[in-house]
Amino acid sequence: APAETPRIVLDAHGLPYLDSRLPVKKRVADLVSRMSLEEKAGQMTQAERGAMSAPADIAGYALGSLLSGGGSTPTPNTPAAWAKMIDSFQLRTRATRFQIPLIYGVDAVHGHNNLAGATVMPHNIGIGATRDPRLAERTGAVTASEVRATGVPWDFAPCLCVSRDERWGRSYESFGEDPALVESMETVVQGLQGRADGRDLARADKVLATAKHFAGDGGTEYGSSTTGTYTIDQGVTKVTRQQLRAVHLAPFRTAVDRGVGSVMPSYSSLDVIGDGRGPVKMHARADMINGELKGRMGFDGFVISDWNAIDQLPGDYATQVRTAVDAGVDMMMVPYSYKDFRGTLIDEVRAGRISERRIDDAVSRILTQKFRLGLFEHPYANTSGAARIGSAAHRSVARQAAAESQVLLKNTDGVLPLKRNQKVYVAGSNADDLGNQTGGWTITWQGESGTHTQGTTVLRGMRDAGGDVTYSKDASAPTTGYDVGVVVVGETPYAEGVGDVGNGHDLELSAADKAAVDKVCAAMKCAVLIVSGRPQLIGDRLGRIDALVASWLPGTEGDGVADVLYGRRPFTGQLPVTWPKSQAQLPINVGDTAYDPQFPFGWGLTTLTGVPSGGTETLRALERAAGAAERAHADRTGRALVTKARLLVQRAVGQNMSAAVAKPFADADHLLLTGHYRAAVQRLTAAYRAG
Ligand code: BGC
Repeated sequence: APAETPRIVLDAHGLPYLDSRLPVKKRVADLVSRMSLEEKAGQMTQAERGAMSAPADIAGYALGSLLSGGGSTPTPNTPAAWAKMIDSFQLRTRATRFQIPLIYGVDAVHGHNNLAGATVMPHNIGIGATRDPRLAERTGAVTASEVRATGVPWDFAPCLCVSRDERWGRSYESFGEDPALVESMETVVQGLQGRADGRDLARADKVLATAKHFAGDGGTEYGSSTTGTYTIDQGVTKVTRQQLRAVHLAPFRTAVDRGVGSVMPSYSSLDVIGDGRGPVKMHARADMINGELKGRMGFDGFVISDWNAIDQLPGDYATQVRTAVDAGVDMMMVPYSYKDFRGTLIDEVRAGRISERRIDDAVSRILTQKFRLGLFEHPYANTSGAARIGSAAHRSVARQAAAESQVLLKNTDGVLPLKRNQKVYVAGSNADDLGNQTGGWTITWQGESGTHTQGTTVLRGMRDAGGDVTYSKDASAPTTGYDVGVVVVGETPYAEGVGDVGNGHDLELSAADKAAVDKVCAAMKCAVLIVSGRPQLIGDRLGRIDALVASWLPGTEGDGVADVLYGRRPFTGQLPVTWPKSQAQLPINVGDTAYDPQFPFGWGLTTLTGVPSGGTETLRALERAAGAAERAHADRTGRALVTKARLLVQRAVGQNMSAAVAKPFADADHLLLTGHYRAAVQRLTAAYRAG
């Protein structure tokens, strides 16, 4: 252990900061006033649990935080092993002067996804497709309760990226391409944290959330360098100041209003057109972190850097540390270099190059959340909720989310829903693969194909639903004698980067998938399900497919997908991103001038019953929608009316219209979603008049 290890362990008992009757502010001020520079620098340091040279470093360097990076799980990977591991780290803090508890963080981005047997939700892209904020909140609540029950009080989620180009390998971490849609799904923050004032954080079923990645992570420009590395991940977001505010900053403002406790800056660079600075890494942008986030938005939580992100800043290490700290980063995720970071930070403060005031501010922000989480009173895992991990009640929330996330893109002759007495031929690479269905950030960072946790595949779900099903993965079994084919194709797991581009065509289906679709669809009526983190190019094949479903990455509950396939629930999902016709159209977003996608943003047929059919009924539905929208406009609390209006418009779109005819309806829906109620009414009226 290093020389500065405190050798005398004082009995901290009796000091004001330990008095839970005092307001958090007082406790923080008391504790900070007693701390040495070394102890403060330790609080600002986060190491990776598997990268630590020895657990003794926790006390030796007075570390403030540890994380498990994707896939850094205890062995065995059980709830009890997680709790035991974290408690053993927490115990080490007892050997420090003030016994400040660690705050342990994981990436639980769709359920407690590092834990085998946990409930895994659809990835955010699917949650965006549900258009159901209350459901999003419930998924957050399930996630929080499973995470906290294993002793983890902090979650690096949700990702608030507004995905603007689906060649990005993190597109599925986005709720969608539209900032208003992303904002509407931020109810997940309440699900994770509870009330916005932080009063629920100490509960055994809540965690501190992290809004990431601030800001512009979803707006990076696509390009590939001569060395073959793609620039879309961690690249440059080049936008006007107005676009920056409207698209990329808006979701963070909402998260701050919802009381999000931590924020993670993005690896990407921001290039604000006209500010004369060119691309600058977000971790270095004081104007954004100090100025926009902590200043204008009034964020009072703490800022955690991304993994090794300071290493990407210009200059020598001391400069990198200074730049990030001065830009407003309060805690540094320095998985391996935690000793260097802490030492350098101390040196920089001693040399007067970083102010002590700044350090005190950072430490106060971190400690505030630790107090709110109740960690000083209850540093060890409260596993009372462990029995609910992966429980039927939790899985039913994930199942509902999987069902509501399914987007019916095409449905000729009502092929879907399937009838139980039909003979169904199921084929395709993703029909029976839990790993592909859960995607990246599941058990391991990158995820993996095959069975790595508990759940139901789409095939299993269809059988559970009582379907008369025969399965042939590669469609090699004879195709005669069946009423309907269901071909489930799509991507294999990936995380970050550019994703599943093994064959060089970013959004193309694999040759095997295409062959399975072609064979089955030539032999019988067929429905194709695409299990993927982003749209896949369908091209001319669309004409040969009777029904097409965007299934996204539905998580562990394939039963939810089967629910809509067999009509136990209606299809109600809507596209959270534009579905392009070709790679050349990318980036393509609603509102673009030459917008001519395969399926527009918001598109989604419904199998809801009671849908108005024919001209007059459609008109009436539209009139009601318009009326509701106008009332909502007059009354700012009329959010429920807008939701209803949007549903009505969606039902109208559900009349099996061609994409061209449906365009104005999708536009109107988008306008409703973005709060342009009057414009939506006008668009609907004009569309109807035009016939
Ligand atoms: C990702 C973050 C994540 C962090 C910790 C990084 O690579 O960009 O989203 O929270 O790793 O696992």
